[in-house]
Amino acid sequence: MKISKIKSAEILDSRARPTICTSVYLDDGSIGQAMVPSGASTGQLEALELRDKNNQRYGGLGVLDAVKNAESALKILKDASPQDQLTIDNKLIEFDATENKSKLGANAILSVSLACARAASNSMNTSLYEYLNIVYKGISNKNSTMSLPVPMLNIMNGGCHANNIVDIQEFMIIPSKKFNFKDGLMKSVEVYTHLKDLLKKKGLSISVGDEGGFAPDLKTSEEVLDLIILSIEQAGMSYLDDISIALDCAASELFTKGNYKLIGESKNFSSEEMIGYIQALVDKYEIKSVEDPFDETDWNAWKTFTKNNSDLQIVGDDIFVTQEKILKKGIDSKVANSILIKLNQVGTLSETMQAICLAKNNGYKTIISHRSGETEDSFIADLAVAVDAGQIKTGAPARSDRTAKYNRLLLIEDELYP
Ligand code: PGA
Ligand code: ZN
Repeated sequence: MKISKIKSAEILDSRARPTICTSVYLDDGSIGQAMVPSGASTGQLEALELRDKNNQRYGGLGVLDAVKNAESALKILKDASPQDQLTIDNKLIEFDATENKSKLGANAILSVSLACARAASNSMNTSLYEYLNIVYKGISNKNSTMSLPVPMLNIMNGGCHANNIVDIQEFMIIPSKKFNFKDGLMKSVEVYTHLKDLLKKKGLSISVGDEGGFAPDLKTSEEVLDLIILSIEQAGMSYLDDISIALDCAASELFTKGNYKLIGESKNFSSEEMIGYIQALVDKYEIKSVEDPFDETDWNAWKTFTKNNSDLQIVGDDIFVTQEKILKKGIDSKVANSILIKLNQVGTLSETMQAICLAKNNGYKTIISHRSGETEDSFIADLAVAVDAGQIKTGAPARSDRTAKYNRLLLIEDELYP
């Protein structure tokens, strides 16, 4: 079986920005399609997202060059087996031949990589998660099981995902592991709904940020956390026993000239003061998971904080950018104990799975993640199940770009555990 055609198009993401959709056609008639998401609080070392920079179209954000580049990959892929994902991805990497995929664009490359996996799974007549589990077993050389992930739902937005001055980017709720996926999601929706009522009663805005979480005009993180805990209690649940809280500080966005500038808190923190600020929040609110508490270059702060908090889930996003090489350095330096996994930070499915495998082999937890600019593509839901990731972060339980992933997981749970 061979790839007979690659067709790409410029489509829109959830933030009204162009992104790429690619379809891979196989000569047995199977087709696979994939859409690529896009971040706002990006890590400096992420693979390059190619934009046209033609200011006459979409303010320079068009992706017509990426569309052309994705289609041009047919000439190097037409003799490869679409079921050999590693070879497909290696050919794409060689064809690009740059360190950060800047020639073809990581958006172009990823769209082909994922569409090819979908086409292969369609051709084999398997569910995508089952097919991805086979690919992951091949790459990790291990007999990996499948499981439904615990969701982390971003219900209050700040940072660069919202038009308020709250410093921390994401306030997430996590349902207890005692719930199956369906019940955990339902409990989380109840909290989201109660939070909406609470905001309305307080005369605060219920408009939402980029990931579907509310973005009222609050200032401090404590104000936000108090409201979330109140809504958990008003929903008749127990904080910590039923629902806990995770933060994504996206602290690289707060870091300027060696200091952390917190506008909502009206504070300018040194590294040491930032460690103290995060530690105080974690201790006071018994936070379960903290992502990017420090800038991606502030490795000493990461090390100190990791050493002092062995029971806390400490997640590296912008610092690791889903890249095996950087994660390896992090493991050696004892930085964080978990990794956020974003396909478009690295640009191929195989490299993403290699990072997941390295993390697991070293006791790091893995969280599969969406981007703030998303599409209706629910690929990451299948990926989370296929690699037994344990956790998924894909926004509030609202807006179709976010619920597409939760809905896909509901259907997978129904298939796996009827
Ligand atoms: P991004 O945000 O997609 O805008 O990078 C998500 C995150 O920081 O986890
Ligand atoms: Zn993040």
